[in-house]
Amino acid sequence: MKKRDYYDVLGVARGASEAEVKKAYRRLARKLHPDVNPGDKTAQKRFQEVQEAYDVLKDAEKRRAYDRFGHAASSPGFDPAAASGGFGGRAGAPFSNVSFESTDFADLFGNIFGGSARFRTEPEKGEPTYGTIEVDFRDAVLGGTASLALRREKECPTCGGTGQVAKNVCSTCRAAGRVPEVERVRIRIPEGTADGGTIRIPGKGGAGVRGGEAGDLFVTVRVRPHPYFERVGDDIHGVVPITVKEAYAGSEIDVPTIHGTVRAKTPPGTQGRQKFRLRGKGVKSPKTGETGDHLYTVRIMVPTTRTPAGVDAATLLESLYEKPVREGLPKGL
Ligand SMILES: [Zn+2]
Repeated sequence: MKKRDYYDVLGVARGASEAEVKKAYRRLARKLHPDVNPGDKTAQKRFQEVQEAYDVLKDAEKRRAYDRFGHAASSPGFDPAAASGGFGGRAGAPFSNVSFESTDFADLFGNIFGGSARFRTEPEKGEPTYGTIEVDFRDAVLGGTASLALRREKECPTCGGTGQVAKNVCSTCRAAGRVPEVERVRIRIPEGTADGGTIRIPGKGGAGVRGGEAGDLFVTVRVRPHPYFERVGDDIHGVVPITVKEAYAGSEIDVPTIHGTVRAKTPPGTQGRQKFRLRGKGVKSPKTGETGDHLYTVRIMVPTTRTPAGVDAATLLESLYEKPVREGLPKGL
């Protein structure tokens, strides 16, 4: 796909001022931010596009390069010094390109530091980055760990980011000055994590500026559904089949819960689809610390093997209803 012009992406004129560029970016980023459009792939693509355009146009040096050379200016291995003889090639800061969408929150949601961010000289915390992991139902409900691969670039160790070794093209990075690096980050999934929940991992976001600490990584958790248990808020729902005799005469049955099986009574005369509750056998809420319940619905199973004795037994049961089972139903609309 052909890359769109960065000025078109932000909807500003080529001569737009820094303030106009920033204003356009903030407006679009607010509208397209993944937190505002969960699961919207188009918005996500647009957000990345806007982010990329802004990363270039907010930086006077990158913007000059883009104005002169277009998208070629940001392609790997492009050396503006060689292309123009103008300004010198600049080695990128190590650990600065995390492959998730990154957003300058101070930019997006107002400058919380007050004054102009552009001329600050004190260390700045790195930008937050965003990622998604898919975890098993069990790990989300009871807590567990997951691992996430962070792909980023670091300064090439062979050439120190210059792209050259003794005037020859560096063979490690092929003149890019940067090499990809994958870091596996282990993430603790807190007990009770819900689908769509976010976990903050301090220090795994964008690199700090001027010696500032690294930003935070925000990971959205997608929970794989379980084939049997269903989570509704902090309660767990399940269905338990029981026999005709267990329903009619009453019994004790094993009910599966996320904490293991629990012995529970079915009272005599239990009806099909009757619901029961086991208090405190649900999910412990990470917000309130309270534990939800396990709710189960019984399903009365009728034997499918038919014998004369079975029919006799059913006939006997038939005589025991206190009133017709369909009494009181409407005749229609
Ligand atoms: Zn190199």
